[in-house]
Parts: sequence; structure tokens; C-alpha cells
Amino acid sequence: MDYDRVIEQVLTAARPHVGEGKVADYIPDLGNVEPRQFGFAVATTDGEVYGGGDWETRFSLQSISKVFTLALVLGHDDQSIWRRVHREPSGTPFNSLIQLEIERGIPRNPFINPGAIVVTDQLLADSGDAFATLRELLRAETGNPDLHVDGVTAASEARTGNRNRALAYLMADFGNMLNPVEETLGHYFRQCSIVMSCKELALAGLLLARHGIRADGSRLLSERDARRIVAIMLTCGTYDAAGEFAYRIGLPCKSGVGGGVLAIIPNRCAAVAWGPGLDEHGNSVSAAAAMDAFGKATDWTIF
Ligand code: GLU
Repeated sequence: MDYDRVIEQVLTAARPHVGEGKVADYIPDLGNVEPRQFGFAVATTDGEVYGGGDWETRFSLQSISKVFTLALVLGHDDQSIWRRVHREPSGTPFNSLIQLEIERGIPRNPFINPGAIVVTDQLLADSGDAFATLRELLRAETGNPDLHVDGVTAASEARTGNRNRALAYLMADFGNMLNPVEETLGHYFRQCSIVMSCKELALAGLLLARHGIRADGSRLLSERDARRIVAIMLTCGTYDAAGEFAYRIGLPCKSGVGGGVLAIIPNRCAAVAWGPGLDEHGNSVSAAAAMDAFGKATDWTIF
């Protein structure tokens, strides 16, 4: 694959969309991000890294962190998580309370907020420190010991995260929280506020492109579970637009309200696009255009 050509095509396709959409501001600190930024990176299973635009600028990981906490929980070989969260698309916004009440505190999938809070709660119970466990994994996979949380964003989330509190307390009422709600949420807010560049996130994503094998060659989770996480990315990874993403792009992706999109192409590479402007579902407009172009330029769309 001529990655330099692919990156050129992706940048060209994304350029008209840079600055489009609306930067997330329901977490006040995210609203301060300069909208006219865009980056794209690819890390290959052969050990090469390519990128362009603002691919070394760090941005807020937000929901993309949920992929890695799920990998860590499944790495404990703990299938019991699937009694606490389902694996179906929700058809409702990522922070909706309605379905959770009707379905008695069991979230639809691990990538909407209540599902991710359950996964963090499980990781906290399994490891004693969910946030530190995640940060150590990401530091190791990127080879970057200074990878850190943006404390201002985390504090901003904690201050305004009443909807996440409502979701977590509702689940606690149904008996689906193991730890005190505020303790789990403290870890959740910090995991979402980790900052990484496209390049770093692509390197971390290789964990799934290699079916669970870490950068040092050891295995974090079983091949089967790694494949299943990628399957859930395809069906549930891009909010209430996962159907549209599959239709238009055809790659398993996970997005976050920080404007990042991580795509996994098993056995080949992990690709990351980032642009802060979001569409009405919470997906980055420029990053979606980039992934569309990436799928076409490589012909790696799975359909
Ligand atoms: N920390 C964000 C929240 O809980 C994550 C949302 C997202 O990226 O989907 O609202």
C-alpha cells in the first residue's frame, strides 16, 4: 500500500470539511478547542507510522477511551461483564436515560455512557485503579511515558457531569454498580479526558488490529475477544449513526466528542482522524470525511 498517496488523498478529501460542524461544549472546557484543526495518522502492523496535518497535536480522547477499558476488562478474562451490559446498538443518544430505566439498569452496549461507566466500574473492581491501569496501557502501547490526562477537562466534566451521575445512580439503584458511584465516575471522567495525538492513538489501536497482541508482543486479551470488540465498534461505535457509518464508510470505527475517530483494519493497521467540529450525532464531520476517503483509497471497506 502506498500510504503517502493514501494520506494525500485523505487530506484532500477532508480539507473542505475542516472547521465544519460544532465543537462539543456541553463539557465547557472542550468548547475552547480551536475548530480549524485536522489530523490523520495510520500505524501499520508492520511497525510503520504515517500521518499528515495536525497528526501530532493532542486532543481529548473522550469516548474512544471506552474501547481500551473494555479491552482491559476482557483481558481479565472476565466474561461476567456481559451480565452487566449488552451488545446491541441503542438507537438513542449516548447519554440517554430512557432506555436504561425500561431495561432495568442494564445498558445496551459498552460504548454508550452508561455501558462505559459499567465497564470502568468493573475495571476499578478488578484492578483497584481503573484510570491508572488505562493510562499505563496507553503509555506502554504508544511508548510514551508522558501520556497524561488534561486535568482542566476532567474537572470540567466532573463539574458538569450530572447526566452521567443520573445514569450511574440509576444503575446503582438497579444493583448494577460495584463501587461507590462518585468513585467510579472520578475514574470515568479522567479516562475520557486523556489527551492523545492521532499518531499516538493509531499506535494504541494496533492492539486490536493485532487481535489482542500488545506492542511488546505479549497478549492482553484473547483473539476472539479482540475481534468482538471490533465488531461492537462497527455496530455501536459511532453513536446513533453507526448504521450510516457502516453504509457510507464500511470500517469499524469508534468516535468521541473530542472529534477523534479510530478505525481498525484487522491484520493491517489502525487509522485515526481528528477534527473538533461535530455533526448532530456527535461524530466529527472532517474525520468522517477522512475515513470515507481512507476506505476508498485503500479499498479496505469490509463490504
Ligand atoms: N466524557 C463524555 C461524556 O461522558 C464522553 C462522551 C463521548 O465522547 O461520547 O459525556
